[in-house]
Amino acid sequence: MELEQMYEELGIQRDILNFAREIEGNLKERFRGIDETAEYNQMKVIQAMQKARVSDIHFAATTGYGYNDLGRDTLEEVYALAFHGESALVRPQLISGTHALHVALSGNLRPGDELLSPVGKPYDTLEEVIGIRDSAGSLKEYGIRYRQVDLLADGSFDWEGIRQAINERTKLVTIQRSKGYATRPTLSVDKIGELISFVKGIKPDIICMVDNCYGEFVERKEPTDVGADMIVGSLIKNPGGGLAPIGGYIVGRQDCIDRASYRLSAPGLGKEVGASLGLNQSFYQGLFLAPTVVAGALKGAIFAANIYERFGFLVVPDAKQSRHDIIQAITFGTPEAVIAFCQGIQAAAPVDSFVTPEPWDMPGYDAPVIMAAGAFVQGSSIELSADAPIKEPYAVYFQGGLTWYHAKLGILMSLQKLADAKIVEIPDAH
Ligand SMILES: *Cc1c(COP(=O)(O)O)cnc(C)c1O
Repeated sequence: MELEQMYEELGIQRDILNFAREIEGNLKERFRGIDETAEYNQMKVIQAMQKARVSDIHFAATTGYGYNDLGRDTLEEVYALAFHGESALVRPQLISGTHALHVALSGNLRPGDELLSPVGKPYDTLEEVIGIRDSAGSLKEYGIRYRQVDLLADGSFDWEGIRQAINERTKLVTIQRSKGYATRPTLSVDKIGELISFVKGIKPDIICMVDNCYGEFVERKEPTDVGADMIVGSLIKNPGGGLAPIGGYIVGRQDCIDRASYRLSAPGLGKEVGASLGLNQSFYQGLFLAPTVVAGALKGAIFAANIYERFGFLVVPDAKQSRHDIIQAITFGTPEAVIAFCQGIQAAAPVDSFVTPEPWDMPGYDAPVIMAAGAFVQGSSIELSADAPIKEPYAVYFQGGLTWYHAKLGILMSLQKLADAKIVEIPDAH
C-alpha cells in the first residue's frame, strides 16, 4: 500500500497531505539543525553512561529501604555526568516536577531566607509551593519570603529591578527556563547564563536554581553549563524519553543536592535510602532515547507553527524563531477551533484514539479545560498532548510526540478536523 493511502485510511485527505508536504519541504534545513543537536546530545548521554560503567546489573530491582542500590547510585552518577553537575537525585520518589522543585527549594531555604524569581511569575503549581497563593504547608508558612521581578514588556530582564530586589536575605534565585503556559518567551541557556552571572556578581553565595522542565536536550548546553547550582525537572517530560513511568531529578552542586536529599528522605538519611523498585532500566533507557525523542517533539512543534501561521493564527514561538523548549502555543480565537484541534490530536493517538475529548470543569481552574492525550504514561507530556482552557484568547498549548512521524500525524489530523468543521480552507498545493 502507498503511504498516501495509509494516511487516507487513517482519515487524512489528499489535499491536506499535499499542503503539508509543501510546508514540510521548506523545513529541511531546520530539521537538519535539530538532528545535529540530537546527535551531539546522544553522544553526551552515551559518554556519561560509558564513564559510569553502566552494566545490566544496574537494572536489577531493589525493595525496602534500598540501601546500597547500585543501579540508583549509578543512574545518579550518569545524570551528574551528562548534565555536568557534581551530584544528582534521580528518583521515582520524586513524583512530579512540582515535587522535585519543592524538594530543591525547601531543602535549601531556611526560615528568614528570601526567594527571588527574576523572570516573573513561576509555573502555576509553584504558586502554592511558595505561598503566592495561600496554601497549607507553603514555604511562606515556614517563614520564607518571596520576591518577584517581572520581565520587561519586550521579554528582557529588568536588570535594575533585579539589582534592587537582591538583599542580604536573598538566599536562592529561581529561574524558569520554559515559558510553561504563559506568553513570555522561553529563555535560551545563554540568556540564563547572563542572568546567573549578573546575580552572582551582586551576591556570589546566592544559589541559582533553574526549573528545567521541557528544556532538556533542546540545546547542546544545559543551565548547569552556565553556572546554575541546581537544575530540576520531571522524568515524564523530556529526560525520561517517554519510557520513565514516574520520577523527577535534581542535578547540581554537591551541597545543594545533599540538602535536597535530606528533605526528600530525612535528615541523616539523605541519598542513602530509596529503593528503585525495578524502574531503573526505564530510567536509563529513557535517558538514552531522550535526545532523539526531544528532536521529534521539536520537529512537530515547528511543523505545527508553520502550518497554523499559514492560516493567520498567532503562533508562539512563530514559524521561524529559534526554539528553547518543546511547547507550541497556537491562538485560535474561537472555542470551536480549539476543540477541533484537540480532537484531532486525540484521534491520532496510539492509545485511546477512539475517545473524544470534551471541555470539563477541572479543579483549580477558572474555566473549562480540554485535554487531548492518548498516552502510554498517564499525564506524560513528552508524549503528544494538547490542552487549552476554554476562554479568551482561545489558545492551545501543544507539546511532545515520541516520534516525529506521530507528531506529524497528530498535526495533520488536527488540520483535518479544522477543515471538516470549515474553520480553515485548505489552499491548493502548487
Ligand atoms: C510541567 C512543569 C512544572 C511542573 O511539573 P509537574 O510534573 O507537572 O508537576 C514546573 N515548571 C514547568 C516550567 C513545567 O513545564
